[in-house]
Amino acid sequence: MGAGAGILERLRETLGSDVAIDPSTLDLTRHLKDYGTTDDQPDACILAVVLARTTDQVSAALKLCSEASVAVVPQGGMSGLAGGGAPIGPCVVLSVERMRAIETLDEAGQTITVEGGVVLETIQKAAAERGFFFPLDVGARGSAQAAGLAATNAGGNRVLRYGMMRDLILGLEVVLMDGTVITALNTMIKNNAGYDLKQLFIGSEGTLGVITRLVLRLHPAPAATCTGLAACADYAAVLDLLDQCRRGFGSGLSAFECMWADFYSLGCEPCGRTPPLAHGHGFYVLIETQGADPGGEVARFEAVIGAALEAGVVQDAVVASSQRETAALWAIRDTPGDYSRVFDPAVHFDVSLPVGRIGVFAEECRRRLEARWPGVAAVFFGHVADSNLHIGVRLEAGRIVTRDVKDLVYGCIGDLGGSISAEHGIGIDKRDYLHHSRSPQEIALMRRLKAALDPAELLNPGKVL
Ligand SMILES: Cc1cc2nc3c(=O)[nH]c(=O)nc-3n(C[C@H](O)[C@H](O)[C@H](O)COP(=O)(O)OP(=O)(O)OC[C@H]3O[C@@H](n4cnc5c(N)ncnc54)[C@H](O)[C@@H]3O)c2cc1C
Repeated sequence: MGAGAGILERLRETLGSDVAIDPSTLDLTRHLKDYGTTDDQPDACILAVVLARTTDQVSAALKLCSEASVAVVPQGGMSGLAGGGAPIGPCVVLSVERMRAIETLDEAGQTITVEGGVVLETIQKAAAERGFFFPLDVGARGSAQAAGLAATNAGGNRVLRYGMMRDLILGLEVVLMDGTVITALNTMIKNNAGYDLKQLFIGSEGTLGVITRLVLRLHPAPAATCTGLAACADYAAVLDLLDQCRRGFGSGLSAFECMWADFYSLGCEPCGRTPPLAHGHGFYVLIETQGADPGGEVARFEAVIGAALEAGVVQDAVVASSQRETAALWAIRDTPGDYSRVFDPAVHFDVSLPVGRIGVFAEECRRRLEARWPGVAAVFFGHVADSNLHIGVRLEAGRIVTRDVKDLVYGCIGDLGGSISAEHGIGIDKRDYLHHSRSPQEIALMRRLKAALDPAELLNPGKVL
């Protein structure tokens, strides 16, 4: 009998049949693929779905699977974009989605302690109800869970000001593959007592431990937000504008989203939107600031953008004067939400490079794409202040196929010294390309860490490494 025989029965004996669920009684669609999985995993065979209600149940499930040498795939909201939650081979799927308690909100310490299955939007609302702000935000806010966000070290639009998930986590509780529970729910900003173990699990994509509880940092709710769109002639001007915004707004600069002209064009008329600024400029930058002084914030915003216009750094600009106008500007930046209608089929990339080299990279990448597939449609945009660039390349049956485009783009990233993953992780999708961004020594150390925590390679096998 192969590994896994009888595991459902053993899990049910210990956890009960409402926690260890027989997969034949479920519609498994949502457990077989995450949002970003590009290929089917034909050998996936889910032996049981464990929907734990407590950390002890997570521990018991992992211990049983460990003893029976059965692989375990942690899953959250399945909004991941790298295939990290997709099952491979025979395995037990384990989710903390029923662990949805907001345990405490500490006003003095500005922290919120949550169970791993709490959805991002719920955390944001719970913070807002008490006058605080949880700044991490991604398009999948209605489904991504706290543990999933931590396991992928998610980013989003406001990383520039508040950092990635890593910067917003003070403490974690995590369960190792052998069932050991590590409760490290630190609530202090300063704590240098030995290794900072939580960092090992943040961004580890479910390969080192299962996250069950988190202590997250909150910020005071901003009193004023200003949003504008500026047009620049070239990437050098975008960098000048970024410098002026950093100096003029200081830590108040909360978003600096750069759209190349082709992305802007796609996000306007084809998506049914009126362009807020005329076409014909090289770049369009969405700028957002957040501050504590509603009156002063608008004046400061207009002064900084006005100075950039006068200096010729910006060719044209518009400042939103209502919620509706603000939403209209963000809607263009959020065009990927419309991709299925206007840019499909396509392959999408989330890469990073030093900020100053993003313009050169985009030109070189476009040159290589065009040389290989004349007339290819490609769009570029990103959180450039965080060194993050997104690229979309349109596929054409029989001519432009995913594997070839990945080889070309990741090869270009390797040549120009960037990272193949800025925020979405490695999962299955980028595993074959990790060597472009990590040295053999780095990968060997990752393997040693994995071997120390999960020597039998049972936790989320086939991901990352
Ligand atoms: C429309 C859209 C927009 C997005 N925008 C952004 C963005 O701007 N920035 C960004 O960074 N991401 C973005 N994402 C990606 C996604 O939202 C994040 O990766 C998110 O963190 C995944 O959370 P999840 O709960 O859905 O995790 P899942 O997709 O279920 O899992 C992701 C990984 O975490 C692991 N995991 C899940 N739960 C646990 C656990 N309890 N313990 C240990 N490991 C676990 C899984 O094994 C997997 O490897 C976007 C996704 C969508 C669909």
